[in-house]
Amino acid sequence: MSQIPPEFIVKIDYDTCRRCRRCVMNCSFGCMQFKDRVVPDHKKCVACHRCVTFCPESAISITKNELTYKDSANWLPETRQNILKQAETGGILLTGMGNPRPYQILWDHMLIDACQVTNPSIDPLREPMELRTFLGRKPNRLEFTRDGNDEIKLSTELQPQVKLDVPIVFAAMSYGAISLNAHRALAMAAKNSGTLMNTGEGGIHKDLNSYTDNIVVQVASGRFGVTSEYLNSSAMVEIKIGQGAKPGIGGHLPGEKVGEDISKTRMIPVGTDALSPAPHHDIYSIEDLSQLIYAIKEATDYTKPVSVKISAVHNVAAIASGIVRAGADAVTIDGFRGGTGAAPMVIRDNVGIPIELALAAVDQRLRDEGIRSHASILCAGSIRNSGDVAKAIALGADAVVIGTAALVAMGCRVCQKCYTGNCAWGIATQKPELVRRLDPQVGAERLSNLVTAWGYELQEILGSLGVNSIESLRGSRERLRGIDLDEQTLELLGIKPAGIGQ
Ligand code: SF4
Ligand code: SF4
Repeated sequence: MSQIPPEFIVKIDYDTCRRCRRCVMNCSFGCMQFKDRVVPDHKKCVACHRCVTFCPESAISITKNELTYKDSANWLPETRQNILKQAETGGILLTGMGNPRPYQILWDHMLIDACQVTNPSIDPLREPMELRTFLGRKPNRLEFTRDGNDEIKLSTELQPQVKLDVPIVFAAMSYGAISLNAHRALAMAAKNSGTLMNTGEGGIHKDLNSYTDNIVVQVASGRFGVTSEYLNSSAMVEIKIGQGAKPGIGGHLPGEKVGEDISKTRMIPVGTDALSPAPHHDIYSIEDLSQLIYAIKEATDYTKPVSVKISAVHNVAAIASGIVRAGADAVTIDGFRGGTGAAPMVIRDNVGIPIELALAAVDQRLRDEGIRSHASILCAGSIRNSGDVAKAIALGADAVVIGTAALVAMGCRVCQKCYTGNCAWGIATQKPELVRRLDPQVGAERLSNLVTAWGYELQEILGSLGVNSIESLRGSRERLRGIDLDEQTLELLGIKPAGIGQ
């Protein structure tokens, strides 16, 4: 018998319950049974809130099982719970979503400047505000010549660029980790919002063929689904070296999730585990990486920017410099609070560094080396609101990447059970009866609404700063101030403490 106490307590108000059994039908974790009345098995509850949302009588409440353990500031309940689980299973603890530990969130210790009196602010309701951003390699300088008609022509050859209407891109989440309906919703929303979604490492389903201009295709270590057609069905190609939630380790899509459709997109047999190796087996140096970057550029006829995604680790700045020198047109940095469909908990919670420090270090290093314009920087790893977006751009990002926020917009309740394949909201699952719970049209509308709302808020922030374009904010660290941060952290972030003027 399991010694693990329930994490949550499911309370049913039997006075108001009308015995409709909707909660029984909606709970994909097998927690609810009907025996004359609804009887919950507390141990199975993951707090996904599906039953709470769909109960017509609001008769259900889910509470944390607070009384299970005696208080200890050192041996926290979840620490003891994890030991009990491993004592029973002898296995690695898997988890989903981002790092939930109470590490300092540096975004919350940075404040944005605003104009007063001598430097007038701009009203975004009356003045045009530019949120457009272009991803790709920019020239250091532009050169012009006059043609035979004495007209001025640009003579500098520009590298391929991808235009974003807002500096917010949907994160790489593979078809396999998430459902086809979730992929459809992301693709539709990317198109509606003038931005990009990223296929992740699982290839691309044929249903997404009409969204080519809004798709980043990923080339990861497993090379699942990578063909010339795949590379060319995109606006941009991303080589995935690392992921913020699990730096240094590969991926694992269990065979149970590999059905007919996924086997086609991944190009593997039905029911086999899709294992992505920890490294790319043809990349052991910057020179090797450069060969892959140029192989992809050749395969796409030099028409698309090629980006490289890395986890935020200790020497991220030096690595990013090498990546840019290897020919990448963009670098995506994924911080240690970034999400995952499945990762060992010990890696997710203990490996990597915060995105804020990694971003500041990379932007500064590329500036110091005079190569900042050679590549765009995308910043990922727990961007939670438009305030985080503005701070990331002021710290040096060209655009941000949102994964968890996008999932939450589609209905995710961050129960962290993505790896079980039982997602009650039809997002991180391949079970047909669950997948159909997510209507892609509705999902797309909710995602588009989120991007629109953040876009409006960004315009408000720009207006208060007295600038009328997101490009004017990029790398403007003088518009940020730190609060409750030590001197060294302020120095690493390249910002002054609050209370100090220009
Ligand atoms: S797992 Fe979700 S649906 Fe099932 S009882 Fe818990 S909150 Fe309700
Ligand atoms: S959904 Fe609500 S009203 Fe219906 S059986 Fe469950 S608890 Fe009762």
